[in-house]
Amino acid sequence: MIDLETLRVRLYRQLAREGRVATSDRIADELGVQAAEAAEAFTALAQDRHLVLDHEGQIELAHPFGTRDFGFSVKSDSVLWWGGCAWDSFAIPHLVPGAAPALVATACPACGTAHAWNVHRTEPPAGAQVAHFLVPMAHVWDDVVHACENQRIFCTEDCVDTWLIRTGHTRGEVFSLTKLWNLASDWYTGRLAPGYRRREPVEAAAYFRAAGLAGPFWGN
Ligand SMILES: [Zn+2]
Ligand SMILES: [Zn+2]
Repeated sequence: MIDLETLRVRLYRQLAREGRVATSDRIADELGVQAAEAAEAFTALAQDRHLVLDHEGQIELAHPFGTRDFGFSVKSDSVLWWGGCAWDSFAIPHLVPGAAPALVATACPACGTAHAWNVHRTEPPAGAQVAHFLVPMAHVWDDVVHACENQRIFCTEDCVDTWLIRTGHTRGEVFSLTKLWNLASDWYTGRLAPGYRRREPVEAAAYFRAAGLAGPFWGN
């Protein structure tokens, strides 16, 4: 029997250290178990929302880490990560020892302008860009890949409006980089250690309010 929490920590620590993660076949070899048993353990971790798996059963998201492009690169002086979204990208320098300051880079979804910030743990980055989150917190886990793909940073509110018209989406929530940094700063605390308990966005109204994010979108 694979101990799920031990496996979870092993996967997360590899992502933190390398920005990459093993396949379930590699884990099977490592643990000396059948491939199907490792694949089932991945599925069980996904059912508990510790992982998001792609169609091949491999890790697509292990928040805050992605394993493909979700619009954000995050780099320290030794590691390059895919950030799972704007929120996740600003969280990595808070979560990973030695990762701060991290250089977070993206392009505006509306106009393609490149943006980058040095994200520290001590204070939010300067910048007049805005975050736009499309999916309300109560619905993030309805389709978490879609939710993460649509938590982005735009040049201005005008670029958000341009993008909403182009995509036909209904406006979500627009807020400053300072609030994004507040939101990201403590969200994943403890995630690299054994015994971690996930935060459910739907139960986190007080956390969101403390970050300066209030209203029905946040569930408070
Ligand atoms: Zn995300
Ligand atoms: Zn733009």
